Amino acid sequence: MNHPQSNEENPFQAMEARFDLAAARLGLEPNVIAVLRACEREITVSIPVVMDDGSVRVFEGYRVQHSTSRGPAKGGIRYAPNVNRDEVRALAAWMTWKCAVVNVPFGGGKGGVICDPFKLSKGELERITRRYVSGIMDILGPDRDVPAPDMNTDGQVMAWLMDTYSMHQRSYIPAIVTGKPVSLGGSLGRVEATGRGVMLVTREALRHLGMNPAQCTAAVQGAGNVGLISALQLQKLGVKVVAISDIHGAVHNPKGLDLEAVRAHLQKHRRLDGFDGGTRIGNAEILELPVDILVPAATENVITSKNAANIKAKIITEGANGPCTAGADTILDQKGIFVIPDILANAGGVTVSYFEWVQDRMAFFWTQKEVEDRMEHIMVESFAAVVDMAKRFQVSNRIAAYMLGVNRVAETTRMRGIYA
Ligand code: NAD
Repeated sequence: MNHPQSNEENPFQAMEARFDLAAARLGLEPNVIAVLRACEREITVSIPVVMDDGSVRVFEGYRVQHSTSRGPAKGGIRYAPNVNRDEVRALAAWMTWKCAVVNVPFGGGKGGVICDPFKLSKGELERITRRYVSGIMDILGPDRDVPAPDMNTDGQVMAWLMDTYSMHQRSYIPAIVTGKPVSLGGSLGRVEATGRGVMLVTREALRHLGMNPAQCTAAVQGAGNVGLISALQLQKLGVKVVAISDIHGAVHNPKGLDLEAVRAHLQKHRRLDGFDGGTRIGNAEILELPVDILVPAATENVITSKNAANIKAKIITEGANGPCTAGADTILDQKGIFVIPDILANAGGVTVSYFEWVQDRMAFFWTQKEVEDRMEHIMVESFAAVVDMAKRFQVSNRIAAYMLGVNRVAETTRMRGIYA
């Protein structure tokens, strides 16, 4: 596989750097390392779309399956102007390790389309989605590859995906995708799952460190599905959330934000600008606030070797995938910051996606309480397993999580052998 020049902000290289450390610590054999380092399958599709003005634009889309060793590839689809192949590869590999950390029977995959959904009409978005799905359909399937939402995609996009796939297959196949609306075979609790998982592992970390949530403050970067719900969930836990941001900037209120008002403002305006319940600060500043808990829940590479030394939080819960670079890891470790790594911290989403897939296949649906209880059990156990691994091997939580996940994938890879 070709990689661009080595640089701190290349997400695939960031993944490889941590994988290599974990593999070395596990003493994995070189043959297994070689298999696990490579993505199994990658598709690039061009997506011609008739725009509302009658012109045709051609978008580019990707689907990458990093591993199907433990089960069908699982992972979201991202729509953003800066999506690129290495980012999608990294996100796919992170999904492999994440599914293994929480021990759900999936491999890892990810998809992306280069587009700016904020500049597209609903009709254009639907046509992009359907054409993208038809382009990658050969590798999808409830037993092959099961997509889900990611940045700028939601239940509506998943509904179009499910419909396009089902129309082609001439049958109703809800298990092709997760994160669907509940009326189409979605699971109760899926929308909140990632944010609730972020809260649960933060709660476990506070217990582990002997900190009282009611005496803690938090800042959350990102006010989308993960960020806003993490903030609301942390507030329910008793934590005072003092800042939240979106791509355009942040609002800060040391007395605590009225998050229901933030939610209402976002529903009306789709951006935080103009919210008057706090002072406006920048997206870099929010990361460096003197808070106990920092939740980066927006995008990759926001904490790097350049700003890691300025982070004041005691706990970083990575709601986003890849918010800290490998260069930042060392600095955060030296500062003694308790980092809950992405492949554990945001795994609540894929855990409930797994429940959705199971329910779709059984055509038998669970109550919200059943979903929440099962998810809590998995998140609490996984947190304990990572912390235990970190202690036993004297490694950071991040490398411990990689070791836990990579080891499970190594085991199935070894047992399945190399098909020749
Ligand atoms: P979203 O589109 O709902 O929200 C993203 C938020 O981040 C928005 O508030 C946006 O304005 C902000 N943002 C985007 N780019 C930014 C930038 N460059 N700087 C600052 N802010 C920026 O997306 P989401 O589903 O909440 O996903 C956020 C992160 O969480 C991503 O890394 C995603 O891969 C990860 N994640 C999502 C899920 C899920 O279930 N949705 C699960 C696991 C991990």
